[in-house]
Amino acid sequence: MKCDPTRYRASKPALAVKPRLIRHLFLPPLIILLMIGLGYAGYLVSERNGIRALSENGERQLELHARAVESEINKYTYLPSLLELENSVSSLLTEPDGEHRQTVNEYLEGLNRRSRSRAIYVLDTTGRVQATSNWRDADSYLGEDLSFRAYFQDAVRGQPGRFYGIGSTTGEPGYYLAHGLEEHGKVIGVAVIKVRLEAMEERWQRARLEAFVSDENGIIILSSDPARRLKSVRPLTQETKERLARSLQYYWWPLNELQPLAREKLSEGVEKLTFPGNAELGTEKHEVSYLAQTRRLSDTPWHFTLLTPLQDLRREATIQGVLAGVAFALLAILLIAWNERRKVIATRLAAREALEEANSQLERRIAERTADLRASNERLKGQIRERRHAEETLRRAQDELVQAGKLAAIGQMSTSIAHELNQPLAALRTLSGNTVRFLERGALDTASTNLRTMNDLIDRMGRITASLRSFARRGEDRGEASLGKAVDATLQVLTPRLENSQLQLHRDFSDVALKIDQTRLEQILVNLIGNALDAMRAQPQAELWLEGETSGDKYRLRVRDNGHGIDSEARKHLFEPFFTTKPGEQGLGLGLTLSASLAAAASGTLSVEHPASGGTAFTLSLPLLTAPTLPAEPL
Ligand code: ADP
Repeated sequence: MKCDPTRYRASKPALAVKPRLIRHLFLPPLIILLMIGLGYAGYLVSERNGIRALSENGERQLELHARAVESEINKYTYLPSLLELENSVSSLLTEPDGEHRQTVNEYLEGLNRRSRSRAIYVLDTTGRVQATSNWRDADSYLGEDLSFRAYFQDAVRGQPGRFYGIGSTTGEPGYYLAHGLEEHGKVIGVAVIKVRLEAMEERWQRARLEAFVSDENGIIILSSDPARRLKSVRPLTQETKERLARSLQYYWWPLNELQPLAREKLSEGVEKLTFPGNAELGTEKHEVSYLAQTRRLSDTPWHFTLLTPLQDLRREATIQGVLAGVAFALLAILLIAWNERRKVIATRLAAREALEEANSQLERRIAERTADLRASNERLKGQIRERRHAEETLRRAQDELVQAGKLAAIGQMSTSIAHELNQPLAALRTLSGNTVRFLERGALDTASTNLRTMNDLIDRMGRITASLRSFARRGEDRGEASLGKAVDATLQVLTPRLENSQLQLHRDFSDVALKIDQTRLEQILVNLIGNALDAMRAQPQAELWLEGETSGDKYRLRVRDNGHGIDSEARKHLFEPFFTTKPGEQGLGLGLTLSASLAAAASGTLSVEHPASGGTAFTLSLPLLTAPTLPAEPL
């Protein structure tokens, strides 16, 4: 046995259902997870790129603003050293008296006004203020001991004193620049200028710039946000705090640490700081993140920090993250839709192919069946043709037989016909001879009586030949017949034979209209009654019963005689053609055969009975044309 490999290829494995189920169960959560993941990744990438762009831009801003701070600070750097050139100052420091002091006070006052500094003052080597620009003020520094100030200690050692601090007298913050005044290579005093740097803060605020400057201790000395001022940018040890408190540099400020909510170092000098919201800016509910870029200011141990808000960047990164997620979701939906559509198209194609296959199979089968049907149709047509031909032959044979039967009957009857016609002919000859003589004698009455008799005789002869002609004529297949007329015509035909016998005829039938040709019905009756007359020839009292009755849509006529009947051997062959028991030329054996076939041709039957009382009864059953009428009157 051979295996068809395609059969095994066609069937899909049963496990194919499982991956589909898994796909349907896990695909949506997977897509959502990927969407969130991609969204977050998009957010991070966007934020990183944004930070990079911001920090590049911030770099420039930082440089710009740091330079501005540097120039602001350096503006006053050389001012204290200029006092070295002023003779009155050196005079005061070498010989401190009231006159010199007043001169220097006024000089410093004027200088301070022009330089727009906060105060300028001169200290001796012990740290006591000898002259000051604010000598007129109540809180003047004059005579104050500032030896504890770091800037003094640096300057008296010949080093430049740089110091930011809160004034111990005024409690006002300021930037102190100190310079050791020398004479002949020896420090004789210290010149100090106090500058206020708050103007810078105001400039930053106006420019909406967030920045701060932290000093060497990490304390924010300048800040665009006042809340951050005097806070440490890095943790201070307890020891440092105590040292700073002792120095009174920041007066009694607690110097808390500037504690951002989050701090992330991005690179050297670049951090991401997150602060709580600012009540003044109305952002107390939200955290505020900044990109903090720090740069050391030249010539000072100070650092300038520029804060760039990351809010816009975050918003943009969020939007881009959402967009990335949505784009992925859209792409996934498109892919799923495309895949589904592909599957639908594949299914449709498969269905169409299957349909086309089924169609072509159906067409093939239809063609085969049609061919079969055509062949069987042809066969049937052939059979019909053969049947028709056979029917035609049969009908022709029947017609021939009927005709032959009729001719036979005519032949049979010819002797009696001849006798029947010869008698009137002989009478006619005698009568015509007599009439001629009566006319010659002038016996017109007798001649006239003879002529009337002759006329009657001719009529009788005409009736005989007419019934013979109608019997001999070929009948039509369809027609209608009156039973009464048919019986009368039959008796008319058989009159010569009836006259020879003492027949007692019993008529008990209706004059119904039957579906058969009149002549054919007469032919049947001639056969049946003729046979009966033959069978009853030896009977001393011949009796013939014609009994009729309606049976459904048919009418049954029973032709019964009291003849010799039919023996059992002859009964078997009654309806066979050319079966006859009649001697010599008397019988042809066609009568019953023809009668039965004529009855059958009119959808009727002809059957025989053998009554126990003797004789024979033939029953002719024929379809009724209309409803039966009243019984026919007896002859
Ligand atoms: P035919 O009359 O030429 O013999 P039929 O076919 O008419 O041919 O009759 C066949 C035979 O049937 C007759 O020879 C006769 O023996 C028998 N037969 C027909 N009718 C009767 C009848 N009424 N009584 C007795 N025998 C009959």
